[in-house]
Amino acid sequence: MAGFGLVIILLGIALWMGGRRGFLVGNHPYCKKCGFDLFALPLETRRCPECGSDIFADNAIRVGHHRPIVPLILTGALLSTSGAALIGWTAVGWWPQFDGSSFKPISWLERDIDSHDSQKRRRACSELERRIASDSLAPGQLDQIARAVLKLQGNPALTWNPHWGDLVQKAESGDAGHRLSAALWQQYVAQALSVTAEVRPRVRLGDPIPIRLICRLRTGSDFTALEGVTIAPTVHITLGKISGTVETPHRSLTPASADEFASSSMLQWNLFWIPSQPAGPGTAPLETDVSAGAHVIQLAATLIATQSTDPLATCTQNFSVPLKFLPAGESSVHLLHAADLPATPAEESTATQIARSIRLSGTQNDTPATAPFVFERGHTLGNLWISSPPVCLSCSVVLRQHASNGSTREWSLARLMVRPNDAASIPLRLEIHTFDERPDDGPAEIVCLPDATPAAGTVDINEVWGDPVTLPINLQISDF
Ligand SMILES: [Zn+2]
Repeated sequence: MAGFGLVIILLGIALWMGGRRGFLVGNHPYCKKCGFDLFALPLETRRCPECGSDIFADNAIRVGHHRPIVPLILTGALLSTSGAALIGWTAVGWWPQFDGSSFKPISWLERDIDSHDSQKRRRACSELERRIASDSLAPGQLDQIARAVLKLQGNPALTWNPHWGDLVQKAESGDAGHRLSAALWQQYVAQALSVTAEVRPRVRLGDPIPIRLICRLRTGSDFTALEGVTIAPTVHITLGKISGTVETPHRSLTPASADEFASSSMLQWNLFWIPSQPAGPGTAPLETDVSAGAHVIQLAATLIATQSTDPLATCTQNFSVPLKFLPAGESSVHLLHAADLPATPAEESTATQIARSIRLSGTQNDTPATAPFVFERGHTLGNLWISSPPVCLSCSVVLRQHASNGSTREWSLARLMVRPNDAASIPLRLEIHTFDERPDDGPAEIVCLPDATPAAGTVDINEVWGDPVTLPINLQISDF
C-alpha cells in the first residue's frame, strides 16, 4: 500500500515538473544559465547583462521561453497529494502494530508489564523474557526485574498474570543454576503460596469431618525453576476443647505437574479429621464436648515449601468456619426423590434425565442392550458410563437376580459418586469366590442404589439422587 502511494507521488512530481517546464514558445534568444531575454542586445555583447556568463560559448543560449502546462501541473499536484494521503493512511493503520519493545530500556519494560493495554503488557513480558533467555543481562538487572514482579505478586488486589511468574522463574533458572539473589527467590516462593480451607458445613455426629485445602499458586506456567519444590500441608484444628493435627502427603512441583496445575490452576488436598479427645487424666468424655447443633471450627492451615530439603517458605492462614453437627440418626446428605419433585410437563423430568445420563456397556464393545453380558472370571462385567447427571449420583452398584422361587439375590459391583454435570466411567467388577453363590445365566439387573456415604465425605455435596436406577441385562456366565 505504502509502495503504491510512493509510486503515485513520484509520478505526480514528474508530471508537475514536466508541466512547469512546459514547451518553448517565441523566437527570442535567452541566457541558458539565468533565463535573461537577450533580444535586441548589441551584437558585440559577449557577456549576459544579468549573470555575466559568456553567451558566445557553445550551447549558452536557447531560443524561445518555457510556457507551463497548467492542467499537467494540477494533475501532478493532485496525484502527489493523493499518494501522500495514501501513505499517511497506511502509517496510521500501521503505527499501533509497531512494536518498539526491543528498543526500550529495562525500567521502561518493567512499567509496561502491568499496563492496562494487554498488547503492551504481553510485548513487555515477551521482550523481558527474550532478554533473560539471551543471557545478556547482569545479575543486578535480573534482580531488578524480579523486584518489579515481586511488587505485583505481593499485591493481593491484582489479578495474577502467570507471565510475570515466568519472568522470575526464567531469571532464576539459568544454565549456571540459581541466578537471583537467594532472598528474592525465597520471597517469590513465599508470596506464591496462598491457602484456603473449606469444611463440610453439616456433618453427622461420629462421622469424620471432611476438609479441603486449596493452594492457588501465584507462579509462572513453566515449572522448570520450581523443579524439586515440594509443598507439605499441615492443618491444626480446634473444636471447642478438642484439638488435633492432620498432615497429608506433600506434593512436588515438576514440569509434569504443571499440566495438572494449568488445568485447574490450583493444588488441592482432601482430608478428614476425626475429633477425638486425647486420653489423659481429668479429660471429659467426647460426648460432653461435641454435641448436635451449631459449632465453630478453627483451622490453622500451614503450607511448607522446601527445595532440595532446604526450607524455602512457609505460609499459614487461619480460618473460623461454622459447622453444624447432626444427630447420629440423621444423614448430612439429602436424598432427592422423583416423587418429591414438582411435575414439569414441558421439560424432561429429572428422573428421565438421570436415566439418560447412565449408560451400560458390556465387555464386548457396542453390545446392544439385549445382547448377553458375558462374565468371565477375572474380567470386569462391563462399564457404567455416566455423563452429566442433573444432580449428583452417589450409589452402590449391585447385580440383582430374581430366582424362580421368588427370592432375590444381590452381588456388589462398584461404588460411585459423580458430581452434577461431571462424567465418569466406572468398571463393574463381580468378585465371586469359590464358595460364594453364583448368579445364573439369564435375565438380571444392574441396579444403582442410592448411597449417601461417598457424598457425606465431601465438603460440598449436600444432595444426591435418591431413587434406584435399574438397567436390565441378559447375563451369561462363562469360564469359571
Ligand atoms: Zn544570464
